[in-house]
Amino acid sequence: MRRSRMALIAAGALVAAAAGSAAAVAPFGATAAAAAGCTVDYKIQNQWNGGLTAAVSVTNNGAALSSWQLQWSFAGSEQISQGWNATVSQSGAAVTAKSLSYNGALATGGSASFGFNASGNGNSTVPATFKLNGVTCNGDSTGPTDPPDPTDPPAGSKVNNPYAGAKVYVNPEWSANAAAEPGGSRVANQPTGVWLDRIAAIEGANGGMGLRDHLDAALAQKGSGELVVQLVIYNLPGRDCSALASNGELGPTEIGRYKTEYIDPIAAILADSKYAGLRIVTTVEIDSLPNLVTNAGGRPTATPACDVMKANGNYVKGVGYALNKLGDAGNVYNYIDAGHHGWIGWDDNFGASADVFHQAATAEGATVDDVQGFITNTANYSALKETNFKIEDSVNGTSVRQSKWVDWNRYTDELSFAQAFRTKLVSVGFKSDIGMLIDTSRNGWGGAARPTGPGATTSVDTYVDGGRNDRRIHLGNWCNQAGAGLGERPKAAPEAGIDAYVWMKPPGESDGSSKEIPNTEGKGFDRMCDPTYTGNARNNNNMSGALGDAPISGKWFSAQFQELMKNAYPAL
Ligand code: BGC
Repeated sequence: MRRSRMALIAAGALVAAAAGSAAAVAPFGATAAAAAGCTVDYKIQNQWNGGLTAAVSVTNNGAALSSWQLQWSFAGSEQISQGWNATVSQSGAAVTAKSLSYNGALATGGSASFGFNASGNGNSTVPATFKLNGVTCNGDSTGPTDPPDPTDPPAGSKVNNPYAGAKVYVNPEWSANAAAEPGGSRVANQPTGVWLDRIAAIEGANGGMGLRDHLDAALAQKGSGELVVQLVIYNLPGRDCSALASNGELGPTEIGRYKTEYIDPIAAILADSKYAGLRIVTTVEIDSLPNLVTNAGGRPTATPACDVMKANGNYVKGVGYALNKLGDAGNVYNYIDAGHHGWIGWDDNFGASADVFHQAATAEGATVDDVQGFITNTANYSALKETNFKIEDSVNGTSVRQSKWVDWNRYTDELSFAQAFRTKLVSVGFKSDIGMLIDTSRNGWGGAARPTGPGATTSVDTYVDGGRNDRRIHLGNWCNQAGAGLGERPKAAPEAGIDAYVWMKPPGESDGSSKEIPNTEGKGFDRMCDPTYTGNARNNNNMSGALGDAPISGKWFSAQFQELMKNAYPAL
């Protein structure tokens, strides 16, 4: 449910600037009075029996301010539990929201936005009065009292392919890491995904850029054209249940925190009208839903952690909630993560995964209208195209599906899988115009080891192994793969059904540490990242194929970046 009311409070009070001062007031009737006042847009975005989330935007119509505080009183028993983009505190019914270092400056006509969560009993209303820096923004509401919610898009306002005709945001933080590497300037201006991989990433973890910082930088990059910003929504409860390297901060049952401390604040920022001109692509929860199919429920590959997530439903609920909330904004394009061909390309997994995606896309208020498409191969290494053999081929009467490498999979590469899976998804109820994204950040497989033609037809295995571009030891290997290269450069609408090739995983950022490294991010040590590991059921007990000396997931891994550039395909 969404409620909105514009409290338009203008003229009369004068709010003046004073560096560092919380309350600086010029006399009434002074010359600036005509321009004085403030406008507060206070939206109750979501309310339930137990709490609410609100987004507040304050516009300063008086003289410029260097810091601000906005005050109001709740009419009921609401209690602030969390604020973002302001320090929000409460004493009795009185609430004070103070600006932070980066949003304190408010020019005449300037606005600042913040949000909060509060407990409550479901009947919170928009406060009648606000004070900016101690002065009542009095004057009655002469404006509309119930305008249409600006975050609800007019029907059909989203474009079919957000990448078409648009530039894509270059993350300055990744770009700086890439540019600092010898030879890195060749790719440092490529767009990569911004991973919101923990609650603190919304404000900026470890002094880094937060979501608003990225969106502000995106506005600057946009200029007068169209620009896509790529966000990765990645913080489900019990995250990454079949692996350890990207376990997250939320425990398996913490769905409440996922909603109120992670998705709601992100949705509030994305709904800010300031960002309405950006096309915001959200890729929703990497490596989650397919685990419920392949790594749970009595399969030989099942893990106890995935059984827990299947039983408690929190992956499905979390994804549904995220799609619903994020999809509310008229310029947000949700793409659900759909694994890759080496995961759900087998008959047993293909339709079952499509069904789980549909279940999630219709959970927690989400509908298929909240889904723009799907992304495959995120942070994986599956070759885009196997050019030296096709799934229909056979050698001496034996199908390539029977080779050790293909192992009865229905697909040999990511492109054929993504196109076929798109058709399947439409058949289970997704919109007929959904588009796919393929993460080509690290699936290039060029360099000296790339085959120059088909393998020998001695046996189906010599044929497939001699010809395959994907040089992994096993298709189930996923961590810091030795021999991999940068793949196709990001590109809009490269093939039928594909909205774009993207670099969602920022190349050069580790998949996981090669040995245990204590950390405060919840990241575990997964032996699939240890080059000496001999494997498990999910890679059919093969060597891991990982590079050594890797830092924890997400951290810069220079040696891997160098190898990715060396083996790029197409070559740099
Ligand atoms: C990590 C994240 C990181 C992302 C992008 C994931 O494997 O768990 O922390 O942001 O990769 O590098």
